[in-house]
Amino acid sequence: MTAIEQSAPAKYPDVRNYIAGNFVESSAAEHLDVTNPADGSVISRVPLSSGTDVDRAVEAAKKALPGWAGMPIKERVQVFFRYKTLLEKNIEELAALVTEENGKILSEGKAEVLKSAELTEFACSLPQITAGEVLEVSRGVECRVERYPVGVVASITPFNFPNMVPNWTIPNAIALGNCMILKPSEQVPLSSGRIAELLREAGLPDGVLNIVHGGQATVEAICDHPGIEGISFVGSTKVAKIVFRRGSMNYKRVLALGGAKNHLIVMPDAEPEMTSGNVVASMSGCAGQRCMAASVMMAVGKTDHIIERMVSIVRGMVPGTHIGPVISRAAKERIESYITEAETMGAKVLVDGRNYRVPGKENGFYVGPTLIDHVTPEMRIAQEEVFGPVMVIIRAKDVDEALHVQHRSPYGNAAAVFTESGGTARYVMENASAGMVGVNVGVPVPREPFGFGGWNESKFGVGDITGRGSIEFWTKSKKMTTKWNKEAGVNWMS
Ligand code: NAD
Repeated sequence: MTAIEQSAPAKYPDVRNYIAGNFVESSAAEHLDVTNPADGSVISRVPLSSGTDVDRAVEAAKKALPGWAGMPIKERVQVFFRYKTLLEKNIEELAALVTEENGKILSEGKAEVLKSAELTEFACSLPQITAGEVLEVSRGVECRVERYPVGVVASITPFNFPNMVPNWTIPNAIALGNCMILKPSEQVPLSSGRIAELLREAGLPDGVLNIVHGGQATVEAICDHPGIEGISFVGSTKVAKIVFRRGSMNYKRVLALGGAKNHLIVMPDAEPEMTSGNVVASMSGCAGQRCMAASVMMAVGKTDHIIERMVSIVRGMVPGTHIGPVISRAAKERIESYITEAETMGAKVLVDGRNYRVPGKENGFYVGPTLIDHVTPEMRIAQEEVFGPVMVIIRAKDVDEALHVQHRSPYGNAAAVFTESGGTARYVMENASAGMVGVNVGVPVPREPFGFGGWNESKFGVGDITGRGSIEFWTKSKKMTTKWNKEAGVNWMS
C-alpha cells in the first residue's frame, strides 16, 4: 500500500504511518482533516498517533540501527546519490503535491524541491568532510577522533516547507548513520509519504526512516521516549521551547529552531529598483510563510521613492497567480486581525490584502500582499510573528535607530541591509542580532555547505540544522589513544 492513492470522497485516502518500510494504520483514536488551502477542500485525513505508534517506530529504527550504522559512510551515501536523482526526476509531481497541501504556487513548490536536492547533494559529500583526525601526541602514542552516529533520532517539522524542511534533516542525519523517526506537520502530511517512497526506491533499508503522523501528544511521546537519543525541531518559538525543555529534561540532545521577525534596513542610498523588488519578494514569497521572510522594513531617512516603487509592485501582484493562500482559515483571520489592529492604532495601510477573494476559489484562504506604513515599534504587529504576506514599515532617522529596533525583538533569525555603502553594510553585518545576515539580499538563506540557524529565540541548542554545522549535532565523537611502542619507559606523556 502506498501513502497516496486515489479514493473517494477525499482525493487521497487516510494518511498512514511508515514503519519498517511499510505504510501502516496508526492506532490513533482521532483524525484531522488535511485541507487544500487554495479552495478549502478536504483532500485527506491524518491520524493523531499515540505513544504506541511512536514505540513501534522506535523498535523498527532500533532494529535497523546496527546494520545501517555499521555500514561505511561511503556506502550509505550511495542511497542519497540515487535519491537526489529521484527528487529531480519527480520534481513536477512533488512540487504539485506541495502546492496542493501547503498552498504555495507551483514555482515556489519547485524551488522547494530543488533545495531538497541541494541538501541531498551536501549529504553525498559527507564522506569527504567527515574524515577523522589523527596525531602522534607523544613518541609512539597516537590520538584519533572518530565520529559515530547518535543512534535513533527524531525530526519534528512545520507546515511551511512540507518537502524541504524534512530534507534539512533526513539526508544528513541518515547519511551520518542514524535511524530516524520523522513527525511531519499534521497540516501537510502528504509530501513526507512520497519522500519515504523515493528513499525506499533509492535503496534505503527498511526501518532507517520511519514516519509517525500526529500532533502535540505524538511530539510529547517522542520527547519522553527513552529509545530516542536526539531530537531536531523546526516550528514556532512557543513549541520550540516546549520541545527543547522536555527533550533536554529527558537527557536527549535537542536542536530546536523557532519563529522569526526579520528586519530589513533600507538606507537612502539603496539602489531603488533592486531594493524594492527584493523587499517585496522577501515579504510576499510563499505568502510570507517563511521563517526567513522579512516582516519589518526599517526605512532610514529619505526612502519614500523606494516605498512608492514597492507599492506599485505590490499593487500589480495577483493572489492566486503570483501569491498563494495562507495555510488555514484561522491563519487568514489571525493575519487580518493584526492589520486591523495596527490600522486602529494609527498605522497607514498603503496596500490592503484583507478580505481578498480569488475568483473561482472563494473558499481559499487568501490574504493579499499588504504594506503598512508608519507602524511604531510598540505595536503588536511590529513585535510578534505575523507569518503572512504583510510588511510593516517603521521609519528611523539613522542606522543606529534601525538596529535598536531590531535588537528589541526577542527573535534573531535573519536581518539584512540594503545600501551601496560598504561601511554601512559591514556595520549592520557586525551589529545585527541575528544568526543570518544579508547585504542587498532580502532572504539571506545560507546555501550549502553553510549551515542554517538563527540566534536568540529563533534557535535553542548548539549547532546549525544544515551544512557543516549539523555534523556535530548528528554525531558523537570518540577519542582514541593508542600506544604500539613496546618501550616500557615511553608512556602517553613522553
Ligand atoms: P508549530 O510550532 O505550530 O508546529 C511545528 C511542529 O510542532 C508540528 O509538527 C506540530 O505538530 C508540532 N506541535 C504543534 N503544537 C505543539 C505542542 N503544543 N506541543 C508539541 N508539539 C506541537 O509551527 P508551524 O505553524 O507548523 O510552522 C510555522 C512556524 O515555524 C513559524 O513560527 C516559523 O517561523 C517556524 N519556522 C522556523 C524555521 C526556522 O528555521 N527557524 C523554519 C521553518 C518554520
